[in-house]
Amino acid sequence: MELELEILKFICANQGSVNTEELLCNLGSGDATADIISNREKFAFVCPFGQPKVVARTCLRLCLSKDCPGTCTGLHLCKKFLLTGSCQFTRTRTGCRFSHCLDSFHNAAKLTEHGLESLSRSELCTLLLQSDTRLLPQVRPEVEWPSGVLANHRTAGCQRAANGTLTAGTAPFCFLNVII
Ligand SMILES: [Zn+2]
Ligand SMILES: [Zn+2]
Repeated sequence: MELELEILKFICANQGSVNTEELLCNLGSGDATADIISNREKFAFVCPFGQPKVVARTCLRLCLSKDCPGTCTGLHLCKKFLLTGSCQFTRTRTGCRFSHCLDSFHNAAKLTEHGLESLSRSELCTLLLQSDTRLLPQVRPEVEWPSGVLANHRTAGCQRAANGTLTAGTAPFCFLNVII
């Protein structure tokens, strides 16, 4: 497996962030690893409670338009499906208007463009949740959020989240505290 993908999967398997030291121990502490995680578009460094961590992120976004002609750069995927792996609208007569298919022509192309084509739905969910502020509800959501994602962001929480002055979009690794 390509090293970057291996790193990404390792981080996703650890709820989206890992101790830098643990990452280097597991996947090699050579220049190749250091080079890959220094890519600011895909990885970020945080230091909650003095513990350096690497957080995975992506520039890929969900397309939230209801009638997108398909010319956008976003992923065409049902948000509910992304978050939970299922969608109650599939059981209704009209069905869900959003796609539940990661390997549709459009989605496969976008995932490949961002090097994410071999991520599972839940890995992608972890990654998108901590990269895309628009996926975050301002109030506690009805859906079950992946428990690790919340725990992770609590750990990475900043003071502004703690005192309630943090607004969505401040930083990819602490805005999740808005929903805690
Ligand atoms: Zn679109
Ligand atoms: Zn759906």
